[in-house]
Amino acid sequence: MAFEYAPAPESRAIVDIKPSYGLFINGEFVDGTGTSFKTVNPANEEVLAEVAEASDADVDEAVKAARRAYTRVWSRMSGAERAKYLYRIARIIQERGRELAVLESIDNGKPIKESRDVDVPIVAAHFFYYAGWADKLQYSGYGSTPLGVAGQVIPWNFPLLMLAWKIAPALACGNTVVLKPAETTPLTALLFAEICQQADLPPGVVNIVTGAGDTGRAIVSHPDVDKVAFTGSTEVGKAIARTVAGTDKKVTLELGGKAANIVFDDAPIDQAVEGIVDGIFFNQGHVCCAGSRLLVQESVADEVLERLKRRMSTLRMGDPLDKNTDVGAINSGEQLMRIRELSQVGDAEGAERWEVACDLPTKGFWFPPTIFTGVSQAHRIAREEIFGPVLSVLTFRTPSEAIEKANNTPFGLSAGVWTDKGSRILSMANRLRAGVVWANTFNKFDPTSPFGGYKESGYGREGGRHGLEGYLKGADS
Ligand code: NAD
Repeated sequence: MAFEYAPAPESRAIVDIKPSYGLFINGEFVDGTGTSFKTVNPANEEVLAEVAEASDADVDEAVKAARRAYTRVWSRMSGAERAKYLYRIARIIQERGRELAVLESIDNGKPIKESRDVDVPIVAAHFFYYAGWADKLQYSGYGSTPLGVAGQVIPWNFPLLMLAWKIAPALACGNTVVLKPAETTPLTALLFAEICQQADLPPGVVNIVTGAGDTGRAIVSHPDVDKVAFTGSTEVGKAIARTVAGTDKKVTLELGGKAANIVFDDAPIDQAVEGIVDGIFFNQGHVCCAGSRLLVQESVADEVLERLKRRMSTLRMGDPLDKNTDVGAINSGEQLMRIRELSQVGDAEGAERWEVACDLPTKGFWFPPTIFTGVSQAHRIAREEIFGPVLSVLTFRTPSEAIEKANNTPFGLSAGVWTDKGSRILSMANRLRAGVVWANTFNKFDPTSPFGGYKESGYGREGGRHGLEGYLKGADS
């Protein structure tokens, strides 16, 4: 039965998007010395703003500002003083939460119910959580001496959330930062810069430089950057690891994933189906820890697939600002091409495609929620990250086979286990080579919980006490 809803669009009047943006260096917005680029709304291809592309010279200015602020102000301030700024930022994020959520949905394409109810609340929670650590670093186990200037480069899938994961622990530990948002989603980072001004954060403690790969390269290779924190593709992560090899820069890399979501025959099927849907269609599947490989026990495979398809048919795709929307727009034309190409490889490899039948908007970048059945371990769609709303379905007979298939990947970021047996959850969690294992749930995030990968998913942890390690010199210093 189809449910009809009246459109319920969130107003965008709360957001003031300027025609052009400069760089945020030393507490001020300044014109860059480089060129500029456009950021577009992926749901309708409207050009939103012209944004400065930071040159090497601009990055150098930003690093100098961060160094000055580090030496003269931030590293000399007590932890309790630093905490006051972090709490202030957290509270302003809450106060301006609606504005941030609307802007994130416009620039990224994600549904407003996710930016409003997931991204922004977790962003604020991250600042609150690390504010609490700022005056307790002596109990962290990693010492209390900051590293200096952190160069941070983030992707487009959770623009504001990735910013919070990077900036909150860095500042709490006494470092200053130069951060580059992704080129398709710079706007919420620039609004965050305004929030830093509103919070009276000392100039130079946070610097935001916009641009693409060249700007990122200039940050990570800058000789006066002490710490590199990167979230993005495994390919770029490897290039960064090569760049910093042989320097004394500290590095954390959060890279790609290809998580197994494992459903046993004793699992509560309806709940598991919700978890499968959340695992792969949340944020259009643009999630590094997305449950993109469903491993379902053979005896319940038909039933799970039937219920999954029925549930998928109720997903609402469309205007990201509509409060009823479950699945929004693909972030860019380039990413849409990648999803299409890899899906076509799935067809060519003989997997069977099923997609939700729905009318897609004529403008913007869209891809319907899709599943491939008949997938084998050898298929590229089972091995490579698609980073879109596409699920590969494999089956297994025994727990050992499930483990073997789940771990048969170059990645190791996350996994899900659905079963009624607590003992099985524990034994699976011990044998899965994944940084995070969710049991009878998926995509649960909390600032107190560390997150990170094994193997080609990167190294270092973000979140929790462990997230402090990457920003401190260590217990012996
Ligand atoms: P990407 O690697 O292309 O870009 C990420 C960022 O790096 C962008 O800001 C980009 O401008 C910059 N960049 C590009 N080339 C660079 C270079 N040579 N030097 C320095 N910076 C450079 O990745 P993407 O396509 O934007 O993001 C998607 C990827 O991110 C996926 O693979 C996903 O799994 C991964 N990701 C991982 C996590 C995690 O926590 N492990 C979280 C989110 C996304």
